[in-house]
Amino acid sequence: MTIGVAILGSTGSIGCSALQVLARQRERFRVAALTAHSNAELLERQAAEWKPAYVGIVNGGVRDAGSGMRNGAACLVEAATRPDVDIVVNGIVGAAGLEATLAALAAGKRVALANKETLVMAGELVTRTAREGGGEIVPVDSEHSAVLQCITGRRTGELARLILTASGGPFRTWSSERVAGATVDEALRHPTWKMGKKVTVDSASLVNKALEVIEAHFLFGLPYESVDVVVHPQSVVHAFVEFVDGSVLAQVGFPTMELPILYALTHPDRVPDQGARRFDPVAAGTPTFEPVRAELGRAAAAAGGTAPTAFNAANEVAVELFLGGKIRFGRIAETIGHVLDAHQVRDAASLEAVLAADGDARRLAREAACS
Ligand code: MG
Repeated sequence: MTIGVAILGSTGSIGCSALQVLARQRERFRVAALTAHSNAELLERQAAEWKPAYVGIVNGGVRDAGSGMRNGAACLVEAATRPDVDIVVNGIVGAAGLEATLAALAAGKRVALANKETLVMAGELVTRTAREGGGEIVPVDSEHSAVLQCITGRRTGELARLILTASGGPFRTWSSERVAGATVDEALRHPTWKMGKKVTVDSASLVNKALEVIEAHFLFGLPYESVDVVVHPQSVVHAFVEFVDGSVLAQVGFPTMELPILYALTHPDRVPDQGARRFDPVAAGTPTFEPVRAELGRAAAAAGGTAPTAFNAANEVAVELFLGGKIRFGRIAETIGHVLDAHQVRDAASLEAVLAADGDARRLAREAACS
């Protein structure tokens, strides 16, 4: 019996990497469902190759009517909750992935989660839905996969502290004035990871690491003071885990998303795979570590409730405006700061509360960014 996999966001960076992994693991997994945002051409090619039982497109326009593709946002929840789906790979960018994550977890599925925004905007709700529905969240984010690989087989009480690594992004050695005026091309030139545009801009602004600290808090149940970050420009060590006896384990490897994706599919097992470049410590060079200069998002994380929701929403709006050439790079952090100053923190236990906070923060961010 093969394991059924749904890939949400199949034409994006994570989706394409997931299909590359699955192409080497056909005896274990079958692609049961594929959904994409709007790239109908690539989705059709993927569907022709994999022949999933379900294909959906969020924003397909009229040309896909009658093509056998489900058209519209409802396709995400439909794909995520199908009986022939065991694992949902959520590679959607941003808040748009929330309802599919919740629906999959409520239906008792494993969610291989690359869509970190889901956990940041609604961490309490998502983790509770998993507990109540019998679903399981397994991170695809490389740092969190590293942590999971280090702690698998340990008891919760043995874990003391996490140290997530950050490449520092393309602007690590730039002056803050130069960073503020950085172009879209410059922000998209990540030194070590090849990823989608949103997460690449988030890496350049360091927002990505703030999102990841919040993600780690909800995934591993540690207080924020036990989740540290260190700059590590070579991106070879993905995370350190300190245990209560003071011992530290790290997970290492050349940067590739294919290993975290494969592990999210097979956890806690490991299966033979020949996809990733084998690690070579000499070729990896000398790993270096530096303190982080500024830590964004800590205040929003500590405030809890809807503060991380607002942080994420403000960032999504600002990044979209930046990528569209509407605001300068420095305006991203300013917009987030403005929204968080104005945001009234509320309880974030219900979907309604989360979506209301998300909507308010988006409106405010649009006003603030362009004023
Ligand atoms: Mg990451």
